[in-house]
Amino acid sequence: MFERIKLPYSFDALEPHIDAATMEIHYEKHHKAYTDNFNKLVEKVPMFQNMDARTILMNLDKAPEDLREGLRNQGGGYYNHNLFFESMTPEETEPTDRLLSMIKAKWENTDAMLLEMHETATGKLFGSGWAWLVLENGGLKIVISHNQDSPLQQCNPNLLLPLDMWEHAYYLKYRNDKKSYVKEFFKVVNWDKVSERMEQALENGFSG
Ligand code: MN
Repeated sequence: MFERIKLPYSFDALEPHIDAATMEIHYEKHHKAYTDNFNKLVEKVPMFQNMDARTILMNLDKAPEDLREGLRNQGGGYYNHNLFFESMTPEETEPTDRLLSMIKAKWENTDAMLLEMHETATGKLFGSGWAWLVLENGGLKIVISHNQDSPLQQCNPNLLLPLDMWEHAYYLKYRNDKKSYVKEFFKVVNWDKVSERMEQALENGFSG
């Protein structure tokens, strides 16, 4: 039985950057629906029942064909949102020295990296999807995915920072102004979490 992460902060904790109404609907309606639907689908696939969500999403080709699309969308929604809600915090955090040095290996500084993420998320993604900071071939990279897909589908499990670019993530407060939403999202990023994920990925030898 897959469960949503417990939110480590209250719905209004990220105000004024991310508003309480958006947080509540996003977590209690959207994320709950992905989770419930994913659980119903997994029940129908015995070989998936003892797997974690990441393994399931990386093995969708083994699912019965009629369930594959559903598992991809609902499972992706479940997995991505757990990562997403955990990637935000009202606390002030900073990238660790190790993450910072990896950022500097590619960009001038963290702001330059976030600028690329901003431009990618608002300029290169058409329709609903996600922008990601990932670790790939030992270095950091910004990529996009459509719908509830993620870099997992390209066999990259090293998801460091997800940015939800579905309209439900920002439309209540920001309407069509997704550029402001992204800028404000950057102010609540949990860099401790992002750094921890990078350490974990390096430790697991998932740098490729
Ligand atoms: Mn969402």
